[in-house]
Amino acid sequence: MAKISINLKDGTVGREEQDEVIIGIDLGTTNSLVAYIKDGKPVTIKKTGGSSSLVPSIIHFASEESIVIGEQAAEQLVNQPERTVYSVKRLLGKSYDDLTDVSQRLGYKIIDNDEGGLVKIQVGDKFYSPIELSAEILKELKDVASKHLSKAVSKAVITVPAYFNDSQRQATRDAGKLAGLDVLRIVNEPTAASLAYDIGTSRSDSEVIVVYDLGGGTFDISILMIEDGVFEVLATNGDTFLGGDDFDEAIIAYWKDALSISPANLEDKNFVQALRLSAEEAKKSLSSSDSFSKKVGDYNLEISKDQFEKLITPLLEKTLDLSRSCLKDADKKIEDIDQVILVGGSTKTPIVKRLVSDFFKKEVNDTVDPDQAVALGAAVQADILAGNRKDMLLLDITPLSLGIETIGGLMDTIIPRNSKVPSRAGRQYTTSVDGQANLKVAVFQGERDLVTDNRKLGEFVLSGIPPMAAGMPKIDIKFILDADGILRVKASELRSNIETEVEIKSQYGISEEEMALMLMSSIQNAQSDMEKRSLIEAQTEAQNVILHSHKFLTQNKDHISTDEHLQLEKLVSQLETQKQSGSKDEINAAMETLNDYSRPIAERVMDVNIAEALKGKDI
Ligand code: ADP
Ligand code: MG
Repeated sequence: MAKISINLKDGTVGREEQDEVIIGIDLGTTNSLVAYIKDGKPVTIKKTGGSSSLVPSIIHFASEESIVIGEQAAEQLVNQPERTVYSVKRLLGKSYDDLTDVSQRLGYKIIDNDEGGLVKIQVGDKFYSPIELSAEILKELKDVASKHLSKAVSKAVITVPAYFNDSQRQATRDAGKLAGLDVLRIVNEPTAASLAYDIGTSRSDSEVIVVYDLGGGTFDISILMIEDGVFEVLATNGDTFLGGDDFDEAIIAYWKDALSISPANLEDKNFVQALRLSAEEAKKSLSSSDSFSKKVGDYNLEISKDQFEKLITPLLEKTLDLSRSCLKDADKKIEDIDQVILVGGSTKTPIVKRLVSDFFKKEVNDTVDPDQAVALGAAVQADILAGNRKDMLLLDITPLSLGIETIGGLMDTIIPRNSKVPSRAGRQYTTSVDGQANLKVAVFQGERDLVTDNRKLGEFVLSGIPPMAAGMPKIDIKFILDADGILRVKASELRSNIETEVEIKSQYGISEEEMALMLMSSIQNAQSDMEKRSLIEAQTEAQNVILHSHKFLTQNKDHISTDEHLQLEKLVSQLETQKQSGSKDEINAAMETLNDYSRPIAERVMDVNIAEALKGKDI
């Protein structure tokens, strides 16, 4: 298949340029970085004048107009925590319900306005999605790369943890698009790390690989099977709250105790920040020396390597327990493992390497800088996709995303562009109206957020859904794409077992040039598409909240005071007004105000209802 390239500046479509660069990006929880292939070898890129290629994954909103990323943003973590967003990767593709354990640990505010909706981050009076914030980090990396290479960069491979689900992967893709990047592929981090070691880059390799990744806040262990250049994830395990940050915490706790640091000092933000920074400094320096000491205020902060190792051994034993479970899930024994790869900044601590090699009974690979391995491997993957590695198998892929229309005319992608063919994927939906008997399924192809900008492939109706309240039916939509590009779409309602199916020729009647143009317009319009999408999503959410509030008011008349009733009605009508004419931020703010007021009332009413239901019953 001939390759088509698109020029994002002037909108022209042409044959692939020979010297086009595809960048590889490690979008990390703590640090992100970008790499490319230089003279046949992957290298990471430093910001002009910077000392390291690591960009802390931190976004600081100095004002609404001015956003800073990385090192500079990190400096504001203590003084302006509510305007400084870190660990945004933890929020990607998640609803608030998924995050009850995370939200208390963050210094900034995350919002949920409806059941199951995706989270938003509030900074000042603006609301951001994790996709928009991740896009800011990606823009920074894209910028670092194009400055370094002195040319526009528009194509990228981005890595994600092996355990990321469909919606987290789609969110990562959307963030890339918003940053003006054509995301050619989403690659698993452990796969990228293996590629950085040149494992799996030759078709004859057949190996079982363990990737032990200990980062700033997360631990991931993955077991991969590589055959004929194809990577299969056999099992993954890990702990989303275990990493180098916990080493720092352990050192801080040790100093607090050993030096009896006064409560007054611990109230002082600047002192606490100095303590935190010194702990990380101590940890890093103990990776290459035997002791650390530094004077901060009246205290002499000291720790030896032995003491440090004692502190973190229990944490490391936990990672080994998780490794043991992972082996079991993959149905492999230690003897079956061909290679072990260390990834993540925290594996630079020597005891980590020692314990991991003892556990797996072999020398571990750490010759590629563990900070950089994932980004370097992403660059190797980009090189393979560019067709520069002739011995690599290139699989057939879908050229455009396939999906269905959801409420408000939004495109919901089910099989993303560049997925392997054949491929199958599905998602569950529900109804939005009480007693809805029919559901129209309209199938579209393309990358834009609104279906009107995409190509319609067909539509059909799932009928005969038995009467149920809105939100009750479980409607499963399955896409099955065969090797010839024929798409079968199946819709079924799982509670009643009704089902309908259609067949669609997805590639029929579209040229490569047209596909390239569709792709280009999706990147050129990414910003305005995202704005339209967030407005429609906010309006849909507002509509749900309004409906629920009306139901709540009629059903619980007896338990709500007149004042409360009046106030609730006032807030609902304000939300109604914002929904018609407001911006997404105004709609979100109105929902937040209504929710803050109604939550305690709803809780009280629920208690009353439960008490009534239990009256006279033995429990
Ligand atoms: P993530 O994948 O979560 O984005 P990284 O792989 O960049 O994170 O790891 C960041 C962690 O590595 C931080 O906790 C940092 O303190 C730690 N780290 C970096 N360099 C060293 C070192 N030389 N010795 C020990 N820990 C280090
Ligand atoms: Mg990482």
